[in-house]
Formats: sequence, C-alpha cells, structure tokens
Amino acid sequence: MATAVCPHCRIASHFIRQHSYKIHHGEHTDDYQTVVMHACARCGMPLVEVFEDDKTIGRWPSAATNRLRYPDVPEGITDLAREAHASLAAGATRAAVLMARSTVEAVAKDKGITNGSLVHKIDQLRAGAHISPLIAEAAHEIRFAGNEAAHGPLDLDPVSNEDAEAITRLMDKILERVYHEPAEIEYIRMKRTLGPATAQRHPDYAPGDFGSLPEASWVDQPGPPF
Ligand SMILES: [Zn+2]
Repeated sequence: MATAVCPHCRIASHFIRQHSYKIHHGEHTDDYQTVVMHACARCGMPLVEVFEDDKTIGRWPSAATNRLRYPDVPEGITDLAREAHASLAAGATRAAVLMARSTVEAVAKDKGITNGSLVHKIDQLRAGAHISPLIAEAAHEIRFAGNEAAHGPLDLDPVSNEDAEAITRLMDKILERVYHEPAEIEYIRMKRTLGPATAQRHPDYAPGDFGSLPEASWVDQPGPPF
C-alpha cells in the first residue's frame, strides 16, 4: 500500500491497489508495462500508475486541477484560474501564463473596470483599493509575462516550468486577496455580531486550502507490481 497526497481530496491518504494488468509492447515477449489502478482510501477516487521494469513511468492524475478550491471567487474567474493550472499540469507553460493574464483581466472586469489597457486596469484596481500596492506589483508581473508569451519573438526561450508555476501562484495570491480574505473577515464579523449560527462560509471553503494544488508526491513506493 502506498501513501500520497491524494490529487482528488488533497489529503495524505493510503492508496489501495484494485487491479493490475500487463500490456505487451515491442518485439520481445518480456517487453511489457504494468498498469496498476489504485483507489484513495479516503475519497475512493482512482489513481492509475504505469510501471516498466519495476519503475514508475507515469501516474495520473498528477493534479486534479478541476478540483482546485477557490472559495468566494466568482465562477467565471475560477474557471480561468483552473485552466491556468490545467495548462501548467500539462506542461503548456505559455498557455498557463496567458490564462493567468486573462484571470487578472477578468478580476478588473468583475470590479467594473473595462476600459483601457491592462496596465491601466491594474492601476485602477489599485486606485480603487481593490488591491494593495504589493498585489498590484504581482499583477503587473503577470501582465509582463503574459505580454512576452503572447507577443514575444518566435525564437524566444519557452517559459520555464518554474516561471509558469511562480506566475500561477501569484495569480492565486491575487484571487485570495481580492475575494477570499474580505469574505473571511466578513465571516468573522458576522459570527461576532450575529452569532455562530448565522455566519456561513462558502461551500468550497477548507482550512488553509486555496488555489495551488500539491502534486501527488508518493512517500512510500508500492514496490514491484507482482
Ligand atoms: Zn482522495
């Protein structure tokens, strides 16, 4: 039995082997890969692993980006942010950066700022106190990276995974500051003034869990499949 942070329920769980079978490939009869299906002991969701010569060569999903939690963030914006993460998980780093840029643009639109360039919109968000000076800087960095990815020369170095990851993390930070933190303050205020029964959090809320997903990093290899 292996233990890992489950990409579905996002909790360190045991994975229980359900099925395994061999797939032959290549010319020799001993050229085969082994497919193992596990189920998370907590949520029951599947995780598929492929072995070759007793070594893991693939594991899916590495991150279930459609389950990223964005409590208090408007749905359309959540979709964009999840798409940035899905692109990142697929190794499409330029697409991840472009989706992060679109997410910042959507935040401005949601706050009623629709005119002018993205530079202007970010400055308006800051002027309207929707974002702090520091978060405005983060938004401008996403804008720079997005511009580069969209309009840079064709022989430009591809966006590194590390950079795309940093950009999507900044995107999550912006969403947390703009939507989740004010809602959290409101929740505490409601609890104090109206009592615990009246105060309610967003259904997606989980303590300390916002945006970016941990990879399904296994801490205990299950060993050879047979
Ligand atoms: Zn799970």
